[in-house]
Amino acid sequence: MVMRKLLDLVFPEGLLLLVAMALVHWGGAAPSMAPIFSLFPLVVLTLGGLLAWRFQRGRLLLALLALALADRAMLWLVAPDSEALHAGPVIVRTVAMLIPASFTVLAFIGERGVFSAVGLRRLAVLTALVAVVIVVWLLSAVYPEGTSRAFDVTLVPSAMFGRMPLGQPATLVALVAIVVLVARILWRPDAEGRGLLWASIASVIATSAGPASGRATLYLACAGLALVIAMVESACAMAYRDELTGLPARRALNDALQRVEGMYTVAMVDVDHFKKFNDTHGHDVGDQVLRMVAGRLARVDGGGRAFRYGGEEFAVLFPGKTADESAPHLEKLREAVATATFTKRSKDRPKRKPKSPRAGGASAKALAVTVSIGMSQARGSSLPDEILKAADKALYRAKEAGRNRVAV
Ligand code: GH3
Ligand code: MG
Ligand code: MG
Repeated sequence: MVMRKLLDLVFPEGLLLLVAMALVHWGGAAPSMAPIFSLFPLVVLTLGGLLAWRFQRGRLLLALLALALADRAMLWLVAPDSEALHAGPVIVRTVAMLIPASFTVLAFIGERGVFSAVGLRRLAVLTALVAVVIVVWLLSAVYPEGTSRAFDVTLVPSAMFGRMPLGQPATLVALVAIVVLVARILWRPDAEGRGLLWASIASVIATSAGPASGRATLYLACAGLALVIAMVESACAMAYRDELTGLPARRALNDALQRVEGMYTVAMVDVDHFKKFNDTHGHDVGDQVLRMVAGRLARVDGGGRAFRYGGEEFAVLFPGKTADESAPHLEKLREAVATATFTKRSKDRPKRKPKSPRAGGASAKALAVTVSIGMSQARGSSLPDEILKAADKALYRAKEAGRNRVAV
């Protein structure tokens, strides 16, 4: 369990990022690697930009642009001469705070898809980030001492933080952002969250390394790479997952059926009179019912794996189990759905109190949902398609026999 959670955090973005950073760390100084490293950031940015555009990922585009701008800010605003002595660390530290903080916001915004529709707002965020950097830069030019000191205040009297190259405020902000990102991924693991986490970590390493050696650019490119990998990963995961219910999709079932060896049983699960349900209560309520049923299916025991087959049909695969062995688990599942009280949720339910008792009564109405299940056991050389067809036939028999039952 702990291992699984750890893998959710690290694999594959974290692992690939570590490899890329190791290459940068040990290969960065080698002259033979110079041409590769000089192209690396550009390749990541171009590739990521193209993918973001093709896959319509506003978050990826925004994050990549933020990384590119962070890199330029550190290179252009951090003058190596003595006059701007204070500006250097101040800009680097501002970047060290802004990237993880804004990536954390992105990780949460993505959930609600606020940005997906509004391209302009996306740009406004980027402009705001640039504005912050410029304001800090101007402040450091006018009040070099004060600004510099502000980024170096001691917030926590600790020996550990005292030695951080980024100073306490920046380190703490970055640390909080990373902790929040970790919590967000543990709560709901997904590739894009993982990409944002590892990109944030890489950006902290980039800012700690500083822009002088060119390493910051390379580490920021590694951060971009983590984001790009996460996008590809999530696009693949999406193809195998059903969006409405969160269950693995039909494609995943087909794959699982190709791979399963020896004995197995497949069950087809179909919601009873679902069309009537849709017609009476509307498509949205129909969707809620599908989610509820999927939730029960996901918890099927006996080693069963649930899939959304399509529409209001689901499949459960029991690898290594005979029909007789699977039957009790399916019976339990059928009963769990039938006894679940499904309450129709109307849209304005949480906000307004019902004006009339009628409205309240309708929104709190408990609806009965049942499923019929047909199953079939694989025999020796039978093809997956034949088993599915046989399970479908059994499902038909369950419907004929009066629904809300399991048939073989
Ligand atoms: P039976 O008990 O014989 O299975 O009756 P039924 O009405 O469930 O059977 P039928 O296959 O005729 O109806 C399936 C309906 O499911 C048709 C379609 O409107 C609805 N449906 C399919 N996919 C979705 C979906 O994703 N969301 C919602 N809300 N409805 C869906
Ligand atoms: Mg059907
Ligand atoms: Mg049906």
